[in-house]
Amino acid sequence: MALDPLTLLVVNVANLLALASALVILMGRQLSPSASAARRSLVAQGLGWGALILATPWAGTWVDGVLSTLSMVCISASQWMFFQALEGWLGERRHRRWLLVLAVAMPVGYAIGFGHYAFRVAWSNLLIAAQTLILARATLQPRRPVGSGWRWVLLACTLTMAAFTIARGVMGGWFTELYPYFEAPHPINVAALLAANVTLVLANVAVLVAWRDEAEQQMHRMAVTDQLTGLFNRHGWIEQAHRVMSQASRHGHPLSLLSIDLDHFKRINDTAGHEAGDAALELFGQLVQQCQRGGDLAARIGGEEFCILLPFCTGEAAKAVDQRLRAELSAAAPRRLGHELAFSSGLAVWEPRDSLLSLMSRADSALYQAKREGRGRLVQAPPSREPAGQRDPAEERKAQA
Ligand code: GH3
Ligand code: MG
Ligand code: MG
Repeated sequence: MALDPLTLLVVNVANLLALASALVILMGRQLSPSASAARRSLVAQGLGWGALILATPWAGTWVDGVLSTLSMVCISASQWMFFQALEGWLGERRHRRWLLVLAVAMPVGYAIGFGHYAFRVAWSNLLIAAQTLILARATLQPRRPVGSGWRWVLLACTLTMAAFTIARGVMGGWFTELYPYFEAPHPINVAALLAANVTLVLANVAVLVAWRDEAEQQMHRMAVTDQLTGLFNRHGWIEQAHRVMSQASRHGHPLSLLSIDLDHFKRINDTAGHEAGDAALELFGQLVQQCQRGGDLAARIGGEEFCILLPFCTGEAAKAVDQRLRAELSAAAPRRLGHELAFSSGLAVWEPRDSLLSLMSRADSALYQAKREGRGRLVQAPPSREPAGQRDPAEERKAQA
């Protein structure tokens, strides 16, 4: 069976452009920055290889020089865009600057050395291989617990293509008689073009899965986030709080919970309108975010009720957080809302016998005691061996109404 390199190349370009067009239909026009970078990368790659095919009839002329250099620009751009897609999906990746340097140096060096076949083939292939190895590393490191399967597929594709590209560079540069022109039927060249077809399909399946993962993550984020304040909602907070609590009980480090309710909030709605109420909630959410440390877990748990779970935080440290939040709010509210705003809070310090529910229930009881005692203050729940009032927090709430 004789495989013709030019045919393989034409099939590859046809596949690239067909996939890029199909992705517009499959993904729609409203795309995340990562997904659209991945799609643009595909188009750039198709155009790059297409320019190289167009250049073949003009071999050795200035038209060849222009088209081939253009092809190198497109291929570099494609690698760069793919890196951007990976960064969008996986967070910041290493060697970004190196990739940029290689992406510029490759076509520039290629254009300058175009008259020397061995140089330009070695230069372009080895620099493309270096770019591809940076992409391979980007699929691997730094690891984050996202996107497992598709990353392995992309790693396999990028490593395969890097190996073939190095082989082509070495052949063209140092064994030019084996690879005297781009469509030379040398087995390594044929294998490289076959691999390009296979990795194209696999890499695109990986991109589609990465894109689906991204959409899933976005939906999960929306499901656990309170839209008004950007804090966790009750569901999201409880999900995370279980994890934080089990860490605290495993390692025995302190953990505190602040349960917070804005005071006389109904009055704001009644006197200044619902929008003013929303603005107050938004402001409070911002202040909570400013006051919290790295591992703290803050949520808007209900209407004007918030809670903050503070790992590595003793009762005294939690009181300091409460004080800081109080001071921030009393300074910011008149300035940003045009009226005073205060809150009451209940503090419960975790004890080994506490479940999340009992911790919340103790903090809630302390909160309602703070309300009873005149609002605008913090009350700390007594240790659970001397249980605070046995009333259900929901009952307390009704009693307050
Ligand atoms: P207390 O000091 O006893 O906590 O009094 P309060 O007025 O803050 O408490 P109450 O439970 O009587 O009223 C809470 C109000 O919060 C009632 C509800 O209309 C309002 N609220 C709940 N969610 C939202 C919201 O998303 N936006 C706005 N603007 N108001 C909300
Ligand atoms: Mg309330
Ligand atoms: Mg209230």
